[in-house]
Amino acid sequence: MTDERSPLEAEIRRLIAVAGPMPIADYMRLCLTHPQYGYYLTREPIGAAGDFITAPEISQMFGELIGLWMAAVWQQMGAPENVRIVELGPGRGTLMADALRAAKTVKNFHAAIVLHLVEISPKLQEMQEQRLEGLGVPILWHAALADVPTGPAFIVANEFIDALPVHQAVKQADGWHERVVEVASDGDLVIGAARDPLPHFEATLPRGLRQSPEGSIYEWRSDAIALEIGRRVRADGVALIVDYGHARQGLGETLQAVAGHSFTNPLRAPGHADITAHVDFAALAQSAEIIGGRIHGPVSQGDFLQRLGIEKRADALKARAAPEKAAEIDSALARLTAGGPKGMGEMFKVLAIADPKFGPLPGFETRSRTET
Ligand code: SAH
Repeated sequence: MTDERSPLEAEIRRLIAVAGPMPIADYMRLCLTHPQYGYYLTREPIGAAGDFITAPEISQMFGELIGLWMAAVWQQMGAPENVRIVELGPGRGTLMADALRAAKTVKNFHAAIVLHLVEISPKLQEMQEQRLEGLGVPILWHAALADVPTGPAFIVANEFIDALPVHQAVKQADGWHERVVEVASDGDLVIGAARDPLPHFEATLPRGLRQSPEGSIYEWRSDAIALEIGRRVRADGVALIVDYGHARQGLGETLQAVAGHSFTNPLRAPGHADITAHVDFAALAQSAEIIGGRIHGPVSQGDFLQRLGIEKRADALKARAAPEKAAEIDSALARLTAGGPKGMGEMFKVLAIADPKFGPLPGFETRSRTET
């Protein structure tokens, strides 16, 4: 057992021995982004040979529709001569390659763009470069959104927020305790609760979740990214966030680990599996709104893509495709838009955060998020 421990597991055990039980958020952060051993720094996670598949990897239609969406919103902005497109966690660069190819026909759009890619993985950065350099658009890479210069911008994030660390707390008789990773008496890493309760924690919870029964678990993320996005777009910009998660706040924990396209225990083999948790869209929207962004959605991914015309796009692709390809296009369409456990259509949601000067945006209802 000891021999099979990854260097990251040894490091985590060392940190626990020195500093005591480790909050789940710190554990998740180390697993994903430890500079030497983190999952995203050592692996090529996405694709058939990786650990999971994302919407842009399922079909070119996903990125194409987002490209046309950006071009339409750019025209709504008054077609400014300079606009940044910022993508958070671009993976293999597929979404942006499809997006910019599709939007090429929109007059002057390409000439206005500088692409800023926020990526921590050197391997993925290399793939993005290969994928995107032929587009003729200037590209800059950054380690964090905070490093991207401000100014009119689109910010796009597909399956990025779900990889940001979550905290969890469990309700006990004397209050809410942060959930931590610790070493059990048999030597295994296990999840426990910090000894002392979090001070005044209940008051920070959504009203309906206060006074929850003992044993309840609440999960949350730092609102730093939502505030950073909101602050940027409120002065001429729009962010489009696509991820899996829930539109209403609730109790429960959603931490999950995936390796080789199967679920695995997040505490086993740290650094070898992708660890994510649902995005709490209500919390994200609230923070972005507090700082001045206007919220559109969230709407389901299925509805969003249908409103942008994915079915027509699929028909157009099928008309040009060989018969065996047509079935592939149909199955990609179903996977991206269908509800239920197999489709991404309901589980995934789309939220836009925009400068309040924008009216309704394509793909979203005009009603506010509280009515959806
Ligand atoms: N958007 C892509 C990839 C999603 S996977 C797609 O849909 O296919 C998550 C991406 O975010 C990867 O590119 C990963 O390297 C990057 N990433 C994860 N955590 C990050 C962080 N804290 N800072 C910057 N990039 C991060």
